[in-house]
Amino acid sequence: MKISVDTNLCEAHGDCVIAAPELFDLGEEDEVVRVLDAEPAEALRAKVDMAVRLCPVAAIRVEG
Ligand code: SF4
Repeated sequence: MKISVDTNLCEAHGDCVIAAPELFDLGEEDEVVRVLDAEPAEALRAKVDMAVRLCPVAAIRVEG
């Protein structure tokens, strides 16, 4: 599985960081989220799905 964030859409809401802190990070000054692990283990699929569902602007893409 590969994840990416469309930085044109991301508004740094941070919901994905709450859903999957292993995969996403957001500092005080950040205007877009940082992906910490773009190819996460399959065991994290549920957290990835949660992050996708919670993102208010549908900026997170998942392949595979
Ligand atoms: S939830 Fe969506 S908009 Fe918010 S930081 Fe994550 S990717 Fe960006």
